[in-house]
Amino acid sequence: MISLRNIDKWYNPSFQVLKNCSTTIEKGEVVVVCGPSGSGKSTLIKTVNALESIQAGDIVVNGISVTDSGTNLPKLRARVGMVFQHFELFPHLKVIDNLCLGQVKVLGRSRSEASEKARKMLERVGLSAHAEKFPGQLSGGQQQRVAIARALVMDPVCMLFDEPTSALDPEMVSEVLDVMTELAGEGMTMMVVTHEMGFARKVANRVIFMDGGEIVEDRPAEDFFQSPESPRAVQFLSKIL
Ligand code: ATP
Ligand code: MG
Repeated sequence: MISLRNIDKWYNPSFQVLKNCSTTIEKGEVVVVCGPSGSGKSTLIKTVNALESIQAGDIVVNGISVTDSGTNLPKLRARVGMVFQHFELFPHLKVIDNLCLGQVKVLGRSRSEASEKARKMLERVGLSAHAEKFPGQLSGGQQQRVAIARALVMDPVCMLFDEPTSALDPEMVSEVLDVMTELAGEGMTMMVVTHEMGFARKVANRVIFMDGGEIVEDRPAEDFFQSPESPRAVQFLSKIL
């Protein structure tokens, strides 16, 4: 579903942020990406939908080459759901309109079709009562669930999450993780940058550990937590668990 092959990226000639990164995420797999701050997690996940360009390597998502210059990137991005730390909802649009915009503009759905889909998705994330509100009138956890719903109405082939709970108050973390856990249970292919090791243990099939722009470990979640191989991962886990 997602294949990264030998990815190199430099932000400038003297700083290589991704170093020969390779991994494959199969359909239905949930992969957690963790590692110290600045290790390249956000950069790596953003290469998957070409929000970050790369200088070398190949990226294929659902059979489509992200790195091929002929690829229609807006079309590809529409099918790769992305959820960020800071929600990034359109503040001037009601929740329902946040969910309809991409469906109408990018997928060409009718307003009524989009609206019906949006309402179903809001129900699924437990926010039916909030369709007519503006994002600013919702809690952080509710806004993040809207952001997830907004990605899901586009019928994504996979979902990318970059620290979706790290800007939330502690009591709101679980309502977002619950939605993600449900999604994983339904077979969604997911790549999740997170420090929530409870979620990683419970939900992830694999854990990728990054340090200094390299993928240092890429192993079944159980193995990673039971016996991390690299000293860097051992040190990281000792700090975070
Ligand atoms: P965090 O856990 O803090 O989110 P991260 O693992 O997501 O960190 P990245 O955001 O991918 O790390 O950044 C990796 C490195 O690249 C860092 O050293 C960062 O300072 C640097 N970097 C990120 N974006 C840019 C940019 N646009 N230009 C130059 N350097 C950048
Ligand atoms: Mg980051």
